[in-house]
Amino acid sequence: MESTTDRKKRVRRIIAVLRKEYPDARCRLDYSNPIELLVATILSAQCTDERVNKTTPEIFEKYQTAGDYARARTSTLEKLFRPCGFFRNKAKSVKAACSELVENYSGELPADVTAMSKLPGVGRKTANVVLGNALGIPGIAVDTHVIRLCGRLELASANNVEKKYADKIVLELMEIVPKKDWTMFAHLLGAHGRAVCPARKPKCLLCEIRRYCPYGGGAAYAGC
Ligand code: SF4
Repeated sequence: MESTTDRKKRVRRIIAVLRKEYPDARCRLDYSNPIELLVATILSAQCTDERVNKTTPEIFEKYQTAGDYARARTSTLEKLFRPCGFFRNKAKSVKAACSELVENYSGELPADVTAMSKLPGVGRKTANVVLGNALGIPGIAVDTHVIRLCGRLELASANNVEKKYADKIVLELMEIVPKKDWTMFAHLLGAHGRAVCPARKPKCLLCEIRRYCPYGGGAAYAGC
């Protein structure tokens, strides 16, 4: 069984290779301030980033602050959010989260993942996306790409690599991924997942991190 020390070494090498492969890896949602990223991230649940990016310009033009969303009519938000699906729930979440920001945080985002993830409709993943990308507070956002690749790369324990265990996966990754790389780690795995390692038919023979991947039969896997 791979030791934590070896796993840490392996993950560092994976990150180094992926940084070279995907120098432009970044958050794919368009935003110009933390509130916009919060709204875009809530809208991105069960929706593509492209669809969200097409939908948000009109929304961001109409609303700028947490107070704007808190005061907005739910029916107006629902209409604007409709192209992103699940628009009733998303409108409810955005309005409730922004109301709480106004009431308890002077309309700003709390710079703390625990406080942030307690906002209505904001889980740990959304909190990490927003804090990591908009406020520079390191966090690992565990999405479907991260879950799938962590399973194949055996970076989290086998029993944990399912969506329902996302919070446990985060804790395991926080132990082995250097803190400075937490935010970028999810972007790199997302980029690699889309380009080379999709859910169906991963292109292992073309994969630059195959040597570190048990699923791909990597020779350097054990004690790399
Ligand atoms: S070797 Fe295959 S399974 Fe492993 S990361 Fe690369 S593409 Fe994915």
